[in-house]
Amino acid sequence: MTSSSSPDGLSHDRLLDRLGEVAVRTGLNVAPGQQVLITAPLDAVPLVRKIAEHAYRAGASLVTPFYTDDAVTLARFHYAPDEAFDIAPNWLHDGMANAYRAGAARMAITGGNPVLLSEEDPDRVARAGKAASLAGRPAMELITSFAVNWNIVACATPAWAEQVFPDEPPERALALLWDAIFQASRVTVEDPVAAWAAHNETLHRRADWLNDRRFAALHFTGPGTDLTVGLADGHAWAGGSEPARNGIVCNPNIPTEEVFTTPHARRVEGFVRATKPLFHQGTLIDGIAVRFAGGRITEAHATQGQTVLERILATDDGARRLGEVALVPHSSPISQSGVLFRNTLFDENASSHIALGQAYTKCMVETEGQTPEQLEARGANTSFIHIDWMIGSAEIDVTAITQDGAREPLMKHGEWVKTV
Ligand code: ZN
Ligand code: ZN
Repeated sequence: MTSSSSPDGLSHDRLLDRLGEVAVRTGLNVAPGQQVLITAPLDAVPLVRKIAEHAYRAGASLVTPFYTDDAVTLARFHYAPDEAFDIAPNWLHDGMANAYRAGAARMAITGGNPVLLSEEDPDRVARAGKAASLAGRPAMELITSFAVNWNIVACATPAWAEQVFPDEPPERALALLWDAIFQASRVTVEDPVAAWAAHNETLHRRADWLNDRRFAALHFTGPGTDLTVGLADGHAWAGGSEPARNGIVCNPNIPTEEVFTTPHARRVEGFVRATKPLFHQGTLIDGIAVRFAGGRITEAHATQGQTVLERILATDDGARRLGEVALVPHSSPISQSGVLFRNTLFDENASSHIALGQAYTKCMVETEGQTPEQLEARGANTSFIHIDWMIGSAEIDVTAITQDGAREPLMKHGEWVKTV
């Protein structure tokens, strides 16, 4: 891999270094003296080292990496006793939550095998997933409420590359996936950090415009889709960089192309068909089609992974309701690459999407001092899960519905009607 080079003639090592720099400077925006926690797959060691180097150069006081190993995960499913699947390392999650409370930044590196657990017992997969979500709740709450600066960035791995480019030899598949990640993460351009600043500007202008308009609902129409998504009372659109509650302006996702907000958990009506497969905790769910009434999913079908989908929806009350709606033009670079990444970080940024489960309270105005009950009354959903799935394509139109019920075209054939 070290011999691979981009069309611009930059070596793999140079591009990896730039990705590390963008993750630290644009993604996290590490503050002097701040600790950084990194979670990563084993294959990400070279990227983690680049990130650590840039983090220390930016003034980080301590960088602590935690690695996951797909082989160890599989060993559990193959040899652990059945009762083992309801436990999780609470001590580790509690420790991470403590670190965030003390001001540490969180860096997550994605890139594990998207279908690692596809052959495993769906019941055990669901139980293990639920145990992990429960244990991780205190830490996740600090992340979803944006208490500290955080970032997710991707690392190509052989297992992931094989899923994305199944017809290519392993080395070539890995090189192609790295190229796609470098392109989508905007590190192949002249000055990546400046390019990100300009991209953030564009996303901020779109979010500001949507916030000025204060639409009441969005109506998605297209093949298999006629869905009205009411927006939460006092919802706020976000996109690109934003200040965490510790005052540090960061980019939670590298890459990102979306503007997104909080839907109203009880005001979603109609039916919708997913435009891309969903990869969740190592399993594939394809051909998702669901119907909503009063904000709740009343019918759900998948051509593949129906059992997993049903188990996700049974997680808790909020798992059948929406916690996010996001708009992404079909012309976004990730979408135009034509690559189905089989990884939510990329696929959700190639397509308008909705998320089942937990809402981001940062996507609401005037939340200071409000109780969870007050936020819920305004439409914010609560759940252990937050799962994005893709509903946008060149065939989808989005019409905005204003507070007084007027209709205004927002996206036609997957593109913004108005430039802002
Ligand atoms: Zn999103
Ligand atoms: Zn989401």
